[in-house]
Amino acid sequence: MILAIESSCDDSSISITKIDTLELIFHKKISQELQHSIYGGVVPELAARLHIEALPKILEECKEYFSQLKAIAVTNSPGLSVTLTEGVSMAKALSISLNLPLIAVNHLKGHIYSLFIEKKEILPITVLLVSGGHTQIIEANSLNDMKVLATTIDDSFGESFDKVSKMLSLGYPGGPIVEKYAQKGDSNRFDLPIPLSQSPKIEFSYSGLKNAVRLKVEDLERTNLEEQDKYDICASFQKTASAHILQKLKKLFKQKAPKNFAIVGGASANIYLRSQIEKLCFDFGVKLYLSELKYCSDNAAMIGRVAVEQYKIRDFVKVNEIDIKTRVKEI
Ligand code: ATP
Ligand code: FE
Repeated sequence: MILAIESSCDDSSISITKIDTLELIFHKKISQELQHSIYGGVVPELAARLHIEALPKILEECKEYFSQLKAIAVTNSPGLSVTLTEGVSMAKALSISLNLPLIAVNHLKGHIYSLFIEKKEILPITVLLVSGGHTQIIEANSLNDMKVLATTIDDSFGESFDKVSKMLSLGYPGGPIVEKYAQKGDSNRFDLPIPLSQSPKIEFSYSGLKNAVRLKVEDLERTNLEEQDKYDICASFQKTASAHILQKLKKLFKQKAPKNFAIVGGASANIYLRSQIEKLCFDFGVKLYLSELKYCSDNAAMIGRVAVEQYKIRDFVKVNEIDIKTRVKEI
């Protein structure tokens, strides 16, 4: 079994995965959303302090499996440095005290392997990663052969939902709230520009759309911003944000239709985006894979799943050599 720790942002999570059967023996996550919501976003120092409380609490609950562990895995990049440090410190201590090898896992690889929890992997697969910090198209050929085909030049898809939510004072994280508001709104009421629609390049941008929403909100605030206005803004924004992704995916599929395609990351829980991409994949004859909703946002199960593959090829790191990286260019 492998014990895996995730603390790259505002979720403290630990999992235990069986190496031979991939069975998830133990999995627990303590989310800090509530504590950060009053600030409208994640406060790194607060997040670090909450990990110090939550991680040992979870660890206590899985002590019975310690004697069966073969390795300790931990997310070491990318993420917030002060929160990554908490998980990595705990992993180092466990590795030393239990005399087990240490495995450093890339969080984005984790999101990709959230597709394969308790399952054999399906590779090669082209993946759209939509999360809080990333909007990328990745060609995943194998564990150690992943190419970033496209990325965002400014904000991410998930981040733009968080910012729209903040503008409308709806709370954090914005994704699920904006999605709920959008369900009650008229998506045709506000005409918002689809980002980079004239550009032939496959890349993403969300800051222009965010500013267009800001102008509309300010406009409405000058008169009176009603609840129905908020619903309509959310619906119009969600439609446009998704249309941007759809336009670029269509370009990609025309260039080379992948056999297997998947959407992963926290924002892949968005039902509107999922249904739009489902239609697109159907039209192009592309097979679509989705993570279970409970594994879309950050969790240690996906980190443990990657760790099993790294364990098989003895991809270990020395306790004094594991480093923390807040950003990574390649996966
Ligand atoms: P990264 O993985 O890039 O380091 P992260 O781990 O902070 O970033 P995730 O936890 O994967 O990100 O995803 C969180 C993001 O997903 C937040 O920005 C959140 O608003 C967004 N999100 C969650 N649910 C939805 C939804 N239903 N619709 C749109 N966005 C969503
Ligand atoms: Fe994440």
